[in-house]
Amino acid sequence: MTREQFIKRKLKQWQAILQLRDWTITFETRDIDEFEQGIQWRFTERTAHIVFTTRTRRDRLEKDIAHELSHLILAKFDRYIEDWVWPRLSKKEKATYGETHNKLLNEVIDHWLNVVRAGQAK
Ligand SMILES: [Zn+2]
Repeated sequence: MTREQFIKRKLKQWQAILQLRDWTITFETRDIDEFEQGIQWRFTERTAHIVFTTRTRRDRLEKDIAHELSHLILAKFDRYIEDWVWPRLSKKEKATYGETHNKLLNEVIDHWLNVVRAGQAK
């Protein structure tokens, strides 16, 4: 199975597990650093695009797929906070806020994915 086929298959599986079947997900792989991976979404259209790095191993890749998809569950909430908070911050505050926001968001996502996976293992 090629990397592309693997991603396609796992995206489908995790869309079902996370109940995100109504989203249309596209993706691409690029030779970038891990932290540059990410998802962009359009909430109203229910479309999203994920950029994956080509540098991760397959066992890690599945985790990343589930992680990026999970951002969609929080997308609305995330956008709401950003719309209210972002315009009120100074340039310096934006840097700190953005970094912490992403860090906390990623921690929440990784926590619940551990919960989901623990449930699956039963
Ligand atoms: Zn993330």
